[in-house]
Amino acid sequence: EEIKTTNFIHDIIDADLASGKRSEVVTRFPPEPNGYLHIGHAKAITLDFGTAEKYNGRCHLRFDDTNPEAEDIEYVNAIQADIKWLGFDWGEHLYWASNYFDTMYEYAVRLIKKGKAYVCELSSEAFKDYRGVPTRPGKEPPGRERSVEENLELFEKMKNGEFNDGACVLRARIDMTSPNLHLRDPAIYRIKRAHHHNTGDKWCIYPMYDFAHCIEDSIEGVTHSMCTMEFEVHRPLYDWILEELEVFQSRQYEFSKLNLTYIVLSKRRLLQLVNEGRVSGWDDPRMPTLCGMRRRGFTAEAIKKLCAIVGCTKFEGITEIEQFESIIRDDLNENSLRAMGVVDPIKVVIENYPDDLEEEFEVPNHPQKEECGVRKVPFSKELWVERTDYMDDAPNKFKGFTVGREVRLRSAYLVTCNEVVKDDEGNVVELRCTYDPETKGGSAPDGRKVRSTIHWLSAKHAIDAEVRLYDRLYTVENPLADKEKDFKDFINPKSLEVITAKLEPMLANVEPGVRYQFERVGYFCADLDHTPEKPVFNRTLTLRAPRKV
Ligand code: ATP
Ligand code: MG
Ligand code: MG
Repeated sequence: EEIKTTNFIHDIIDADLASGKRSEVVTRFPPEPNGYLHIGHAKAITLDFGTAEKYNGRCHLRFDDTNPEAEDIEYVNAIQADIKWLGFDWGEHLYWASNYFDTMYEYAVRLIKKGKAYVCELSSEAFKDYRGVPTRPGKEPPGRERSVEENLELFEKMKNGEFNDGACVLRARIDMTSPNLHLRDPAIYRIKRAHHHNTGDKWCIYPMYDFAHCIEDSIEGVTHSMCTMEFEVHRPLYDWILEELEVFQSRQYEFSKLNLTYIVLSKRRLLQLVNEGRVSGWDDPRMPTLCGMRRRGFTAEAIKKLCAIVGCTKFEGITEIEQFESIIRDDLNENSLRAMGVVDPIKVVIENYPDDLEEEFEVPNHPQKEECGVRKVPFSKELWVERTDYMDDAPNKFKGFTVGREVRLRSAYLVTCNEVVKDDEGNVVELRCTYDPETKGGSAPDGRKVRSTIHWLSAKHAIDAEVRLYDRLYTVENPLADKEKDFKDFINPKSLEVITAKLEPMLANVEPGVRYQFERVGYFCADLDHTPEKPVFNRTLTLRAPRKV
């Protein structure tokens, strides 16, 4: 179905195209390769690539690698894989901000020549006194009135490595009295001796984000540069730089971040979880990273649908995780095939079934989609069923075994439990049943009603699988709310429980990543660690949302 989404930037683009201000739409997604992408980035990706698609324009994938530290090729590869998994394609438009270092340097020189930039020896701490506070004008720092010639000479010396790291910066010469602190002569180049993955040791000066980003956009002809709200106050600087340089005028538009309850999104904090071993890695199925969510069994479609529903606005809101989970359940319910799995098995013995008989029953792969076909599931005298499907003296509404009641084994037979065997502690170990041979396939020729339909596995055919039951990573909606505490204090100690379950034999041979609904149990997917010899499944979500308490 068509989702109605709110997107104020599309309204702006419509107006730009109608007035002739723009004749095409060019966007970019600019990740810094210093971590893995998370669900927040999916919102930006959906906006950047989705907008280009909508207007038959193009979206560039640009690695924002102007900060030489913390960047790694591992992240570069993972980011590309995740964007592709979401279903987006940058075609030949893959760019590196570091390829523009020469142009950026040239542009800085251009500003100096116009009297619009100067070298400043104040430390960033000392400069704060000159910059001042928004309510009062700042003061002119020393060096602001230096001549163009002297600034050109000093900037060249900065580039040539004649000063120590941090000895001076290049500042834009804008307005020390502006109410916007970002316009009070911001630093645009700093000295930093650091090896860069692309440019090696060629540079010891690196551009600051605000100077670099608008120039990257302009060089690439980006028309609509979308970023998150915290950059709104930087926009006048973005515009000032491009206007002073007299280059292509890209424009920046800000939207609010995606926030979800029970989820912490910040690469810095996610890195802490990884480094401290709180999770197994960036792709741990409890992580809000795209690779973690993929491994958990979430679908790209569900993630994109969430982004479409939240839309693009300037309001800082928080989306309830239950809404996201319900989108995922709907998608999985519709699109994943069914299988039978028993997570907490008890034995069923069909006393009147021949000892050495084996049959196979055809079970539908999807109850609502005949086109998904059927599969054959082996049946024999001894079966596994779910412990929760038996109850002593069960009330009528209980859908399961109790002594004296007839139930349906899905697609197989009607069986009646005659006796329950318990161990010394009173735990059920076995149900002794009889079957009605006339009910083959699961329906009675005399049309008698059976209310319960139970999933089952033939004990001698079922495989053992490691099943990882995942739950939310935190116990509270907002682990960052309490400023006195560390977000990691709220990690859910029961966020992972590993069990051994019984599964249909065919599940040994599925590919990692394949998703199933284990009937009446939940949504599962084969883990990356899954092999036919050692099957491993992750629980994506329970079948239904747990009741809110
Ligand atoms: P983080 O704050 O998690 O470290 P980041 O913004 O530093 O993320 P970038 O690599 O710079 O990470 O992000 C690329 C793009 O994704 C940016 O345009 C950024 O604004 C956007 N983005 C990051 N987090 C979110 C979010 N929660 N919602 C929407 N967009 C986001
Ligand atoms: Mg960033
Ligand atoms: Mg960041």
